[in-house]
Amino acid sequence: MSKQNTLQELMSRELKEKSIFDQAQKCAYDYLDTVLERDVYPTAVALENLSQFDESLPEHSTQAAEVLQLLNHYGSPATVAALGGRYFGFVTGSAVPVGIAAKSLATYWDQNSAMHVLSPVSSKLESVVEKWLKEIFNLPIETVAGFVSGTSMANFCGLAAARYRVLKNQGWDINNKGLFNAPAIRIVTGKQAHSTIHKAIGLLGFGKDHVEWVDVDDQGRIIPELIPTLDNRTILILQAGNVNTGSFDPFDKIIDKANQAQAWVHVDGAFGLWAAAVKELQHLTRGIEKANSWAVDGHKTLNTPYDNGIVMCNDKEAIVSALHMTGSYIVVSDQRDGMFYTPEMSRRARVIELWAVMRYLGKNGITQMIHGLHERAVQFHHELSHVKGFELCNDVVFNQVLVRCDTDERTEKTMKRIQELRVCWVGGSVWEGRKVIRISVCSWVTTPKDVSLSVKSFEKALQEINKEETAH
Ligand SMILES: *Cc1c(COP(=O)(O)O)cnc(C)c1O
Repeated sequence: MSKQNTLQELMSRELKEKSIFDQAQKCAYDYLDTVLERDVYPTAVALENLSQFDESLPEHSTQAAEVLQLLNHYGSPATVAALGGRYFGFVTGSAVPVGIAAKSLATYWDQNSAMHVLSPVSSKLESVVEKWLKEIFNLPIETVAGFVSGTSMANFCGLAAARYRVLKNQGWDINNKGLFNAPAIRIVTGKQAHSTIHKAIGLLGFGKDHVEWVDVDDQGRIIPELIPTLDNRTILILQAGNVNTGSFDPFDKIIDKANQAQAWVHVDGAFGLWAAAVKELQHLTRGIEKANSWAVDGHKTLNTPYDNGIVMCNDKEAIVSALHMTGSYIVVSDQRDGMFYTPEMSRRARVIELWAVMRYLGKNGITQMIHGLHERAVQFHHELSHVKGFELCNDVVFNQVLVRCDTDERTEKTMKRIQELRVCWVGGSVWEGRKVIRISVCSWVTTPKDVSLSVKSFEKALQEINKEETAH
């Protein structure tokens, strides 16, 4: 018997006996038992042990149980406990339990969501979730959604649709004629646009030097009066949720103007678009429904597992044409074929966990969870305002809090010390030319107690730094 057959038999047995699935499940449960309580960031030993993975590709196959054991033993301790309630780095998000469970079930299904014929269930759920999202964000009925990896890709897709439409309006088909010698396009955006907007601008061939960057106010919002005169060759990129302050561009009147000028408006709403689901916060997103394309994440504010972003566009022809593929083998059904709304063809059915989280929470649950993030951020801001030595740098309109010490050096040292204490994890950023500590409340797990514990850790870190400085 050939070696290959033996391996095939072995794998068949693994599938049938399921002991490695039990093993993985057990490791997962052990992880869940400790992840909320353990150090938020891996210990030095855990990081050191990652060197165990530095090996050359084995010559022969290994026991599956051994592979899982390696992952559990050296991988698990080196994870960041973003799933828990005291991770406030970047803008991330935990995961709603049913989302993890649904994703795990979907893993066994291993669906390809490119076409209806490849996965009827994925096609159905994409249609359903598309409808739900339109309702939550109050978007026009003709809006279509593509289920992509995150907002980086969603921004790229929305701007690709914009590029298609703006050029088409000048009688230029980008797909056939390309960008060389194409009519000029104008890109207008705020100076606080997210780095992934810069990336998309590069990928789409617009060039950052070509962008008309508009000044922003002290919260990072685009200043409407400074937006240049728009026209039908312009793509205007706005932002719902500044990655530092959490602020929102004042959409309503700006988009009215853009619409009059027949400019395309794209909204980067990675985490902020969800403010639309909360009555008390809806003033922040007022007017977004008048834009043409939107990018949003499931994996940040909504707390789906990772790899979950959505592009939405009110111009189906533009987005499908921009991302289109052709091939005679493609079965175009009268049902939804997901690949027409994404750059990829084969793609895992990430809509499954998005559907599960939305179906589980319902409208009220979504509202409650997102409002909770806001309340914890307000609490963080409030409690920090009573700690001597910290200066707060932003208005907490949503889930972001910026804070600094009296000097950049002390801010940096304090942040590092907070990280070392491992009670919580926060990262740094720069705001108005000064170093700041950025706190992003994105996890459904975070309780008022988590916030208080974290503030205590801030206090302790600063005290230690101050003590060390006086000792020197
Ligand atoms: C996080 C973020 C992005 C990028 O989203 P990913 O899901 O990480 O690709 C884009 N814009 C803003 C405002 C963000 O906060």
